[in-house]
Amino acid sequence: MFTVGLLAEAACALGCLIVVITWVRDRSTKSYSWWVIGFLLSALGVILAAQRHALPQLSELGIPGFFALFGVSAFWCGLRVFEQRPLPRLALLPPLLWALGLPLAYQSYALRQVDFNVAIGTATLLVGIDLWRSSFREFSTRLCIATICLFETVVSYSQAVVLVAMRDQIGQGPLRGWLTFAPFQSAVAMVAIVVLGILMTGERSQRRLRELAMSDQLTGALNRRGFFESSAAKFTNRSATSGEIAVALFDIDHFKAINDRYGHPGGDKVIAEFAQRVARAIRPSDIFGRIGGEEFALLLPDTTINEARLMVDRVRAAFAETPVLFDKTEIAATVSAGISIANTQEANLDQLISGADSALYAAKRAGRNRTSILRAVAQHDREPPMSVRSSS
Ligand code: GH3
Ligand code: MG
Ligand code: MG
Repeated sequence: MFTVGLLAEAACALGCLIVVITWVRDRSTKSYSWWVIGFLLSALGVILAAQRHALPQLSELGIPGFFALFGVSAFWCGLRVFEQRPLPRLALLPPLLWALGLPLAYQSYALRQVDFNVAIGTATLLVGIDLWRSSFREFSTRLCIATICLFETVVSYSQAVVLVAMRDQIGQGPLRGWLTFAPFQSAVAMVAIVVLGILMTGERSQRRLRELAMSDQLTGALNRRGFFESSAAKFTNRSATSGEIAVALFDIDHFKAINDRYGHPGGDKVIAEFAQRVARAIRPSDIFGRIGGEEFALLLPDTTINEARLMVDRVRAAFAETPVLFDKTEIAATVSAGISIANTQEANLDQLISGADSALYAAKRAGRNRTSILRAVAQHDREPPMSVRSSS
């Protein structure tokens, strides 16, 4: 037991150290404080449990068990905070189970072990299910931690059954069979969870950096790189439908004049407001980004020419009708749009973009505040592109 206790304490100390270092470097993440508390409580629980011969009353009152179980509850709360979800309502169920079992297990070490196994098995079951359910979006380290937690539940519950059967022999002589193995594997599992936890936080930092590199600070939309990367991915995974795919390019009209009249912050407000309005109007499968100063691109997969025109015209008309409020001043602005559409199977992003660019140029030349459409021509087609059609 000494070796097991030492291993568990080493895992707690290592985890705690890593979490403290990470927390010092990134104080904005509140989950770290929950995890530090979790590690400290669990370590205290393990240390006190090892003192059961020196402090038998402490053990009979279940104090080490409370520390360990509150520690697991703190871990669970930290996980929820990490995922930006509300704290778990069942976080206190494991310590409650432990408390309910204590009157029956008073003065019986074996029954206290049964009680503790039921409580800790329930804790790992709850955390495991929660992690399993939240990891559906991607196969990740989260799923590995969930699997270890659920395995721990099986171990704890089965150990509880063995303990009940062998309750008269517990405390007299060395442990045998499953009972010797189970604490060892629990300690190993704890080390594994610490390592996987580090990987999980690392994965999230990487994902955040990637998101940051792909998004535009002013509007929160994708930036040029983000738009092109996300759109290229849509082309790689294009569905087998025979539908069409469209690209719309928007350019705010006479934007230099807006900057001149209301200053750069006024211009920025117009850009941000336009992006927000488009973002509210699009479908989840559409890809929208700011690809230049006052230029935006929108990829509309599985769309028809009429749907694309309706959507773009609705946004354009609404933008022209409702001025942007900036410092109690109303800024009237309009936008021109160019749409290019092609068959999904034959489409090519560069071609669609250049088609939309030609259409946008046509909309500008035709007087601005209007939408032009151009049907992109497949590479193997020899015919010249269809003439540009405008609507205002
Ligand atoms: P047009 O109708 O032909 O599009 O005219 P325009 O004035 O919009 O023409 P142009 O595209 O040449 O002007 C874009 C201006 O946008 C130039 C640049 O100073 C300004 N700009 C680029 N990025 C930003 C930005 O982030 N914020 C602000 N406020 N202005 C920007
Ligand atoms: Mg421009
Ligand atoms: Mg412009």
